Amino acid sequence: MAKCLYCQEKAGWFKSVCKDCQSMLDVIGGLGPSFSFRDMLDALMATQASNEKIEKFLEADIKGQGSIRDLITARMTNELARTVGQPTDTDAEKVRRIREEEKKRPKIALKPGEVDPFRR
Ligand SMILES: [Zn+2]
Repeated sequence: MAKCLYCQEKAGWFKSVCKDCQSMLDVIGGLGPSFSFRDMLDALMATQASNEKIEKFLEADIKGQGSIRDLITARMTNELARTVGQPTDTDAEKVRRIREEEKKRPKIALKPGEVDPFRR
């Protein structure tokens, strides 16, 4: 029995994606070119997948280039940047790197009114 690429649960014979994750992929594919994170979450919650599974699905980093959450963050960042007239070329890989760096960065204790020098 193969494991699902997204949630690591049993996917079924000759399958790399389980039924729940496949339905989430279908739902995302049906959302059209520009949907908000909120739209997507609503659509995912409407599937049979549990909240836990939705979390795993969004965090799955199948190709090592960033998770679905990173991909959507990158797309929304680019759209926002274009709207304000400062195009960027953020992609899922960059979002993933920034997220990893944020995790590793030691928290600096700030005095009131002081600004974190590493804040983007
Ligand atoms: Zn799955």
